[in-house]
Amino acid sequence: MGSTTVLLYSACPREGSTPEEARSALTLGRATAASLGGDLEWFLLGAKPSDAEAIAAEQGVARLHHCAAPELGADTQVAALEAFCAAHAPRIILFCQDFDSRVVAPRLAGRLGAGVVMNAVAIETGEALRVTASAFGGDTRGVYEFTGDGTAVIGLQPNACLPEAAESPSAPESCAFETDLGAVGERIVVIEAASSEGPRLEEAEIIVSGGRGLGASENYHWIEELAEALGGMAGASRPIVDEGWTDASHQVGLTGRITRPALYLAAGISGASQHMAGCGAAKAIAAINKDPDAAIFRYARYGIVGDCLEILPELVRAAKEQRHE
Ligand SMILES: Cc1cc2nc3c(=O)[nH]c(=O)nc-3n(C[C@H](O)[C@H](O)[C@H](O)COP(=O)(O)OP(=O)(O)OC[C@H]3O[C@@H](n4cnc5c(N)ncnc54)[C@H](O)[C@@H]3O)c2cc1C
Repeated sequence: MGSTTVLLYSACPREGSTPEEARSALTLGRATAASLGGDLEWFLLGAKPSDAEAIAAEQGVARLHHCAAPELGADTQVAALEAFCAAHAPRIILFCQDFDSRVVAPRLAGRLGAGVVMNAVAIETGEALRVTASAFGGDTRGVYEFTGDGTAVIGLQPNACLPEAAESPSAPESCAFETDLGAVGERIVVIEAASSEGPRLEEAEIIVSGGRGLGASENYHWIEELAEALGGMAGASRPIVDEGWTDASHQVGLTGRITRPALYLAAGISGASQHMAGCGAAKAIAAINKDPDAAIFRYARYGIVGDCLEILPELVRAAKEQRHE
């Protein structure tokens, strides 16, 4: 086998702090590196998060690589990673799966002639490198085996593992990585950047989500009001985002946000696997649905069979009263 390094790659488009998914990926990467007898490294492209060194120390990262890049289009990211791999040849490159990495990881694998597995939830090393990945929106799992000892590219589901600090944290070696990205031509041009101000659904402790059962866009305010009254955030199923009842930053599911709240309250949501892929890791799910056979009740710890348009106003009233007591 060649290099035993496990590398987490993070694109950092703006200054800020490290997202929780990266800590979780570092924890999984550390266990994988240990089982290979190698090191965990972290490559940051773009603006270095203010807490990167502290998180790297906490997670047992041996080397923290940073490369500044003014733009973080997909072609720039692929070029930077290709140059990094030419210099360091990691055994495994981990991506925290998000919209960008779904584009970047397979393209990088193509450039490297490497295998790629996305939606990974577990990694096993032994005689062969095996990756378990979720498929069909979380309905099933597939196990993939990487052959050969070249680089393996793996996209991790955000809820693949819970972050845990290393037993003996120690400061990482900081390494600047330089490569000329000036000549990279971006094939996808962003004409309007999505707004990403404010708190993120992925980190919310309480989420109140609405679906098509709300009946009409003017009823979505009940979801927002209840979320606010409970000190949480508002979510949505994909059809109502597609209909424009709320914007895409609220979409929970396979093609939306992957969340892990303490409480996920779903109102008028059927519980399709693609939706559950984004909330199935909640500690408790509560559901309101007028159909007692709705799939969501298979996942819910608490269920109310009834009309959400009657129940939501009651819950809003009760939550507001509770707040003022
Ligand atoms: C590739 C792919 C990716 C997808 N990604 C996503 C994703 O990221 N997120 C996502 O959400 N979906 C996603 N979908 C769509 C998904 O398959 C479902 O179609 C969608 O989740 C259904 O949304 P819904 O539950 O709001 O609507 P519906 O399935 O129409 O369910 C509405 C529910 O509301 C109930 N209801 C109706 N009226 C009331 C009432 N008055 N009170 C209470 N309950 C009521 C009904 O009984 C029903 O259970 C994806 C699909 C595909 C193929």
